[in-house]
Amino acid sequence: METYYVNGFYETRNNAKISVEDRGFNFSDGVYELISYLDENLIFFEKHYSRLIKSLLSLKISSPLSNKKILKLIIKRLIKLNKIKSGYIYIQITRGTAKRNHVYSKETPPNLVIFCLPLRKIEEFRRGVKVRTSEDLRWGRCDIKSISLLPNILDKQIAFNQGYYETWQIKDNYITEGTTSNAFIVDKNGSIRTYPKSKHILGGVTRDVIIQIAKKQNIKIIEKAFTLNDIKWCKEAFLTSTTVKILPVIKVNDIKINMMKIGEITEILTYNINKKING
Ligand code: PMP
Repeated sequence: METYYVNGFYETRNNAKISVEDRGFNFSDGVYELISYLDENLIFFEKHYSRLIKSLLSLKISSPLSNKKILKLIIKRLIKLNKIKSGYIYIQITRGTAKRNHVYSKETPPNLVIFCLPLRKIEEFRRGVKVRTSEDLRWGRCDIKSISLLPNILDKQIAFNQGYYETWQIKDNYITEGTTSNAFIVDKNGSIRTYPKSKHILGGVTRDVIIQIAKKQNIKIIEKAFTLNDIKWCKEAFLTSTTVKILPVIKVNDIKINMMKIGEITEILTYNINKKING
């Protein structure tokens, strides 16, 4: 039986309910976090928790979680109840339930829902994925992990319908990130390039880990934006996210990358992030 954690209670799917006056439902007024876990071990938990607190603070939503220890206990129990050994944990927090009004009260307690999903089958993507590009129509605070994902889902759907894995967003000629992932190339000098941490991208947990690994492996990494023209001349490309960790990108629009083969640097990073996760 699927179990959801809703505001302090473990509920079966049919009993897990949130009010129609929830501000997340009415205004997308909320944040979320996604953590992956393997054999009941949460991966990069501290980094996800810090980002969640940062997202809440940025939107002045009070935290329904007293501390990270409590959150971990709730998650561990939820994993046991759902009998899903490896998967993903979603933590959804909204500004709570109140009569519909743009203006909010600081007194309204937030709503908290936590649920888990089994690991997605992504083996077919490990050999490389295709990416399309489109104009970045998102708001000016993409660094906040907001539940308001309309431009992201619309562009991801177009990618899916057209046989691509992802859509990379272009802002002022530069690739910012994907709709669900961060974007990287290995430029013609062999340096990894990715959009700098800023309000235009989500500071991905996997992005941080990949940067750490690259530095340790003495691979030069420059947090400097790249263009479609840079992609034409790049040696490799890849994307990162919690759900897939790292995937080689072998084609962007009609540009074939590294003759559509997985590049050497992507291989090194993939090997090392798997080692870090699996121990
Ligand atoms: N950018 C966006 C827009 C995302 O939705 C995600 C996935 N959460 C990422 C980047 C990757 O972040 P992470 O590595 O923390 O999953």
